[in-house]
Amino acid sequence: MGTPRIVAEHGADQMHRRKSASWLATTLNPMSNDVKIPSELLPRDGRFGAGPSRVRDEQIQAIVDAQPQVMGTSHRQAPVKDLVGDVRRMLAELYSLPEGYEVILGNGGSTSFWDAAAFSLVETRAQHCEFGEFGSKFTEVTRTAPHLQDPDVITASAGDIATPVARKGIDVYAWPHNETSTGAMAPVARPEGADAGALTVVDGTSAAGGLALDPTQVDVYYFAPQKSFGADGGLWFALMSPAAIARIEKIAASGRYIPATLNLATAVDNSRKNQTYNTPALAPLVMMRNQLEWMLANGGMEFTTARTRESSSRLYAWADRTAQVEAFVTNPSARSHVVVTVDLTPSVEVNSLISILRAHGVVDIDPYRKLGRNQIRVGTFPSVDPDDVTALTRCLDWLLEKQLL
Ligand SMILES: *Cc1c(COP(=O)(O)O)cnc(C)c1O
Repeated sequence: MGTPRIVAEHGADQMHRRKSASWLATTLNPMSNDVKIPSELLPRDGRFGAGPSRVRDEQIQAIVDAQPQVMGTSHRQAPVKDLVGDVRRMLAELYSLPEGYEVILGNGGSTSFWDAAAFSLVETRAQHCEFGEFGSKFTEVTRTAPHLQDPDVITASAGDIATPVARKGIDVYAWPHNETSTGAMAPVARPEGADAGALTVVDGTSAAGGLALDPTQVDVYYFAPQKSFGADGGLWFALMSPAAIARIEKIAASGRYIPATLNLATAVDNSRKNQTYNTPALAPLVMMRNQLEWMLANGGMEFTTARTRESSSRLYAWADRTAQVEAFVTNPSARSHVVVTVDLTPSVEVNSLISILRAHGVVDIDPYRKLGRNQIRVGTFPSVDPDDVTALTRCLDWLLEKQLL
């Protein structure tokens, strides 16, 4: 008896929610249902999310083309192992990896990588630079890990950046290359004067593929596929130096308790065989391979970084010339090329603006929820056409000019 009742209630609840959502939209903004942005102003593709982000049509076609040779087949056999091998080889090529660096991968996305890093990379004490949500999440992981000392934390307020400072006893320096929650990007350079053997472990989740990197400055550069690579989430990738791999092996041999799925020594062993410890999702690997082919065919990182610089600069220029808008990140060199945040003057109802655009298929420009600002946040990853960014600014101009908010 219980089950059908729950189903019925669930159904009613869904309907109620749908009704109340439209009620809310009309109450907050009586015009939103009537506002019609001229279709010639709209971007060709309206996906501007900071992750998951725009997927190119060719990536979806690549999944169709991988049927039936790859999709639905064993990850322990050649077709899937070749796919993993292609992705690893092309990532090494994209980053011109120095001798001895390896591309390692595993399941669970960047958030799982933080746990894995706390078990397999940090020996005693990490230093974290915190200037937004993602940096602080990794800090929380090493702070609560019972086998590690409390981390050293360098903070900057949202919209600014913090950079590492060499200190005795720190064996991992960690910071995000691009803080996705605020749209601030930080330099990637080894801190001068660090203890011999200290590792730099950089979160490249939203930066990888879209921001330039000198791989000699990092021991571990980890990321997930759902930002610049336009694939589905769920995996992590890490570019690792020989020193990082030596650290992983040393800790694995030390007798520390490490859960199997978070043991990076296991990930290294499996990656070298173009496998993962447990079953990976295959579609994101196919999407990732297609994206890497596209990036490399067009000129690699020079192509992708020029494109993200172009897209983002169009938004910053728009913010500069528009009275109601201001770039959130004040330091120009910290203004991200891949995630652009702009504040709107309080008289502009950003929630209505976002919902009007959503009704026109222009989606996911919401600010990071915990930042709580009257702001839009726009993903300008390599898959985004700079002309679509220009179209977005035209739509925003049209809405601001019409004072329909
Ligand atoms: C998106 C993001 C993450 C989280 O990635 P998941 O794959 O969802 O775990 C971590 N760090 C940064 C900088 C991100 O942008």
